Amino acid sequence: MLTGVDALMPIGEFSDRSGLSPKRLRSYAAAGLLVPAAVDSGSGYRYYSPGQLREAQLIDALRDAGMPLAEIASLIRDPSSRQLDVWARQVEAEAAQRQTALQLVRRLLAVDADATHMTAPEHSGDDVRTTLETAARTDTGRVRENNEDALLCLDRIVAVADGMGGLPGGEIASSLAVALLEAACTGRSLEELEAVVRAANRAISERASAAQGLEGMGTTLCALALTDAGTLAVVNVGDSRAYLIRDGSLRQLTEDHSVTAELVRRGELTEQEALDHPHRNVLTRVLGGGPTVEVDGAVQSVLPGDRLLLCTDGLFNEVSDEEILSLVDATDDLSAAVDALVDRAVSEGGHDNVTVVVAEVSRSDPPVDTSRAGRRAQRPFST
Ligand code: MG
Repeated sequence: MLTGVDALMPIGEFSDRSGLSPKRLRSYAAAGLLVPAAVDSGSGYRYYSPGQLREAQLIDALRDAGMPLAEIASLIRDPSSRQLDVWARQVEAEAAQRQTALQLVRRLLAVDADATHMTAPEHSGDDVRTTLETAARTDTGRVRENNEDALLCLDRIVAVADGMGGLPGGEIASSLAVALLEAACTGRSLEELEAVVRAANRAISERASAAQGLEGMGTTLCALALTDAGTLAVVNVGDSRAYLIRDGSLRQLTEDHSVTAELVRRGELTEQEALDHPHRNVLTRVLGGGPTVEVDGAVQSVLPGDRLLLCTDGLFNEVSDEEILSLVDATDDLSAAVDALVDRAVSEGGHDNVTVVVAEVSRSDPPVDTSRAGRRAQRPFST
């Protein structure tokens, strides 16, 4: 089948030409996919044939479509459009389930919104509007095969979520949490934000108990919203974090809901001991763990120039608070700050998925007045 030994490519060259990392190629081979055409029995070096580039493209496209490796292996053994049709129907069914969950959230929020509308603070009436300038990035890291983190970046609402429960539950739980937040939250008030988080918990819990293979899925969620009153609403469930960076100092706005964090708060463990504790990844609260969840919520005042950092534990388990502060303060460019943080977490080991959102509070002028008076005012030389 091979055209000749000369045509074989070492793993590095095949990685460059296929765009797949050596780590990914090795994990595919372990799953019986893209098995090297030859392996040097002396050195253990792997070699690929040019004909395998097409198979690499095919596998990558199927991964983009969300197909698990086991199903890809079966499709490649028996390539038929029938199997693709089955997968397409499954994708449609999952999308329909998400839509159903969103409808549930809308119904639940209609009740909660009535209750919160009366107490929601009125808009301050300022012509100047407070918004968030944001930058964000998520990375699978160097150890995990999949990224179960999710993030949301809007000009008044930002969030990160860290899913758990294995394939495919973790990814579904975290993406469902941020999708529900995006669909149902206006950021009007802390009460509204908390109601959305409780509704997301119910939706994820119901989905986890209704769908086979999703038992035990859950997610953290940490979200910030600029409210109508110009303050910042902060909500948190799990161990993703929000920090405020102001005047050269970093302050954690959230408390972790983990076994080790509870022990540190009770004085039974030091912060340093917590880093290596065998239960450091065990959470005491998640979305999806049952019909109700306790949501931490707080209101924080903000000033123009304040920076807010949201992250999953893939950042702070690899990078110290001091280093986080110095990397964020080192640049005015929010994207550069996010890249520096994620790159540092990955280079320090990348043991987990890492997700970072950096947001800066800014005051923007009111939208341009497009009324007749406004248009006239912009044309002083017209007659
Ligand atoms: Mg994590």
